[in-house]
Amino acid sequence: MAGDWTLSPHQSVGFLKAEKTAEAGAGGYRSRTEYLWMKVPSRYGLINITELVAEVVERSKIQDGLCYVGAMHITAGIYVNDAESGLLQDISAWIERLAPLRPDYRHHQTGEDNGDAHLKSYLTNHQTTVPITGGKFDFGTWQQIFYAEFDGRREKRILVKVTGLAF
Ligand code: ZN
Repeated sequence: MAGDWTLSPHQSVGFLKAEKTAEAGAGGYRSRTEYLWMKVPSRYGLINITELVAEVVERSKIQDGLCYVGAMHITAGIYVNDAESGLLQDISAWIERLAPLRPDYRHHQTGEDNGDAHLKSYLTNHQTTVPITGGKFDFGTWQQIFYAEFDGRREKRILVKVTGLAF
């Protein structure tokens, strides 16, 4: 199970395209919004999207501000943590233990089969906000942004909104 979960932390598996959806500015203030389109080839995946999000920040030209990253789905999540491969397997195993794939969720009485995915999403949260200083993520050494897919094999979107000062 862990093998299916843990996609390479250094590759943006499933990334389809980035789409600019909004841009605004007044004075030195700027805002840019993009959707990152994903189609993860497996049911589950923990995918390092740090570089993809950093590219949005770069395109925004914002030097000081905040970067919101949010999954636009209720069966996916966004979290910040280390990209160390053992830890990724530990996180996968921990999530599976707390919200296992199984047939008897009440949610399945509606004809759905992804009760576990909704609970898994809740465990990782759906969004994070990263500070931007000097045009870069103001991160600690090991912090990376992950997209957690819990019901993949379909197109999904991640919303990235960067707001702040450009100078
Ligand atoms: Zn559902």
